[in-house]
Amino acid sequence: AHFCEPPRIQRLDESVVNRIAAGEVVQRPASAVKELVENSIDAGASTISVVVKDGGLKLIQVSDNGHGIRYEDLPILCERHTTSKLTTYDDLQTIKTMGFRGEALASMTYVGHVTVTTITDGQLHGYRVSYRDGVMEHEPKPCAAVKGTQIMVENLFYNMIARRKTLQNSNDDYPKIVDLISRFAIHHTNVSFTCRKHGANKPDVHTMASATRLDAIKMVYGASVARDLIEIAVSDNNPTQSVFEMDGFISDANYTAKKTTMVLFINDRLVECTPLKRAIEVAYSATLPKASKPFIFMSIRLPPEHVDVNVHPTKREVSLLNQENLVNTIQDAVESKLMTSNNTRTFNMQS
Ligand code: ADP
Ligand code: MG
Repeated sequence: AHFCEPPRIQRLDESVVNRIAAGEVVQRPASAVKELVENSIDAGASTISVVVKDGGLKLIQVSDNGHGIRYEDLPILCERHTTSKLTTYDDLQTIKTMGFRGEALASMTYVGHVTVTTITDGQLHGYRVSYRDGVMEHEPKPCAAVKGTQIMVENLFYNMIARRKTLQNSNDDYPKIVDLISRFAIHHTNVSFTCRKHGANKPDVHTMASATRLDAIKMVYGASVARDLIEIAVSDNNPTQSVFEMDGFISDANYTAKKTTMVLFINDRLVECTPLKRAIEVAYSATLPKASKPFIFMSIRLPPEHVDVNVHPTKREVSLLNQENLVNTIQDAVESKLMTSNNTRTFNMQS
């Protein structure tokens, strides 16, 4: 047999580890925006405004009127695994905030230049400080500030040449960011959202707080979409199966589109659930073949212990207990809703 010398195993430098991890948490500009907006929501903001330059590669700026950040927390704000939201592992069971890992801001400082401006209630002035690779570049500087926090990420992926190139070549991320803010805006109807390109005077998303859900959908997706929606609600309290509640809006027979729009929140988290989306599309093709690419907004509530939010670095996919039952129940509900609403129009039995 032939023996070749095994390579030596070495410990990676912490900065290498951190940058690799950062590239997973912040995959593209839209994922940075998602993390920043979720932080603003966690901070109790009622206005969140997003400004983007060059699809987010030059600049992402998220401003909110939330509770702000304490002066004494600024030194560790952007270190990995520093958070105000989680203390023990068991807290994960009941966590209500979007964030909990304390990785988002840190990651951004490893792949971009982060500047934070923040003021807490009752202070006369705020502070501004910039971060690189997890640490402050200088002492926080006093500055004028309005209530809340503004986080600016500049030159994203400046140190990841391949990532930057791909993003520059592919269609830029701005449409993804608009799509993301649109989704948040129709779920968080108590928050006013704006999203604009740097330098543009007209925002691409603009909602007013305390609108009804349907008004929010109208502001974001237009009156023509809102007009063709039906309200739907399901609550499944069969104790032998999973317990959940769903409410939302689904498009009727008049709505036509080239592709499905599915906006799904599970316990207030924006997620994707492909099996559910497919099941709903099946329900549409069975009942409304001409309108088989629906618009769907659904908010599902489950006991927190039935959702594992910790399966994916970007927290996009959640895994659910009794997913099959949930999917089937919702599929049936959609189908019967479409049947009855179509019956009130002219319903042709299909043979
Ligand atoms: P996580 O959200 O998982 O805690 P982050 O890295 O996203 O981790 O944020 C770290 C901490 O910074 C948060 O726990 C929070 O205390 C604070 N923070 C971040 N953004 C904001 C904001 N917009 N307003 C107030 N506090 C913030
Ligand atoms: Mg966060």
